[in-house]
Amino acid sequence: MDETLESTLWNIQQRNLGEPEFIQSVKEVLASVGPLLAKYPKFAEQKIIERICEPERQLIFRVPWQDDRGEVHINRGFRVQFNSALGPFKGGLRFHSSVNLSIVKFLGFEQIFKNALTGMPIGGGKGGSDFDPKGRSDDEVMRFCQSFMTELSRHLGEYTDVPAGDIGVGKREIGFLFGQYKRISNRYESSVLTGKGLGYGGALVRTEATGYGLGYFVQQMLAARGESLDGKTTLVSGAGNVAIHAIEKVTQLGGKVVACSDSKGVVYDEAGIDLPTLKRIKEVERLPIESYCQSRKQARYQAGGKLWEIECDVALPCATQNELTGKDADALLRGGCKVVAEGANMPTAPEGIERFINAGIAYAPGKAANAGGVATSALEMQQNASRDAWSFEHTEGKLAHIMKDIHDRCLRTADEFGAPGNYVQGANIEAFTRVAGAMQSLGLI
Ligand code: NDP
Repeated sequence: MDETLESTLWNIQQRNLGEPEFIQSVKEVLASVGPLLAKYPKFAEQKIIERICEPERQLIFRVPWQDDRGEVHINRGFRVQFNSALGPFKGGLRFHSSVNLSIVKFLGFEQIFKNALTGMPIGGGKGGSDFDPKGRSDDEVMRFCQSFMTELSRHLGEYTDVPAGDIGVGKREIGFLFGQYKRISNRYESSVLTGKGLGYGGALVRTEATGYGLGYFVQQMLAARGESLDGKTTLVSGAGNVAIHAIEKVTQLGGKVVACSDSKGVVYDEAGIDLPTLKRIKEVERLPIESYCQSRKQARYQAGGKLWEIECDVALPCATQNELTGKDADALLRGGCKVVAEGANMPTAPEGIERFINAGIAYAPGKAANAGGVATSALEMQQNASRDAWSFEHTEGKLAHIMKDIHDRCLRTADEFGAPGNYVQGANIEAFTRVAGAMQSLGLI
């Protein structure tokens, strides 16, 4: 990073003290855009970086609710409306005990660039709460969602801000949130939330989209190297929405996923992860992944577990931020891994990214590889706006096309800026150019 960018980063750090995840995500983008600023000095003159790194609006609010025993709880709600140069703020809501302003800001910041890469008219934002739905009854989750939406609803709208799901926010939560929005606004405004149930405006493929899109992206990464997923041993971290559908798509495309994980441990199944068993445990019974071994006798479970030490060709981190450290990257490289693509947001720590890039393996950041989820959310908005419902095949075809397009543009831009094969440079420069261009056109906003 050159001196001017170092000094810009320092100023951003001083303005956002105590926000390590946010600063980490800013640093990653700034480390890529030097060649772009050299080519277009106007971006620096117009302080585009300083403006992009400052959210348009940040909301923090109280969320009071009562549990089934009548006890009152107070959680904290967040919505960071980061950048709307390309369209309404768009990005998910995360419900997890670890959620804080730094995490929401890093997610919102990443979302600006991810959404730009999709080529669709959506800005970037993110939100959530330190509420953890795990272990809560459906009624408790409903009461929490209603209280959360009572405040958030004032700040949403199909042309203003359109949330979706993320960790801890699936169909159940989106249903409760949409119900409360509808009740307060007195409007059936379908495209104010995406990831809705199919019975009330949801779109086919949205549930599968992030994981499926990741599978298509990996297919393109391998094709660019003259290879395919056929027979490739694959590791997937996590066992949630993204992980499950990544496992499904990789398997359909010929790969063999031998291990996955949750926050408690790792499951290894030499015969390949059995999807119906995994779905039943995680989606229906909501049990820890250890239970997988009760149905699959040859499978092994390791509490805690060192997923990335298993030998593989392809690694797909799909759980959470900074889950893959420098040491994990070393283990993957030792084990022969040739492709890493991120289903989660910022799952690889900076030292890990450096190891992958220096080793010359194919490494794709989440903002490119997991963009299929938000792209399909934009397709859901299109269907809602036109009162239409597309078939699964049609929508999945569009998703596959979008992922190939993102992949190819990242590689082309990396080439153009002298970093062939570097998906990080390609994604950051490509996305930054699009957002910065729109900001220039809209004047000083
Ligand atoms: P889910 O809540 O459905 O699943 C998260 C999974 O990750 C769970 O299996 C969870 O385990 C596991 N996990 C969480 N924290 C840890 C940890 N510290 N160590 C190991 N495992 C952990 O979330 P999603 O699948 O929706 O999201 C996963 C990632 O993908 C997140 O980074 C999210 O931001 C990103 N993403 C999601 C999109 C979407 O469409 N849903 C779109 C783009 C990105 P447990 O069940 O034990 O908690």
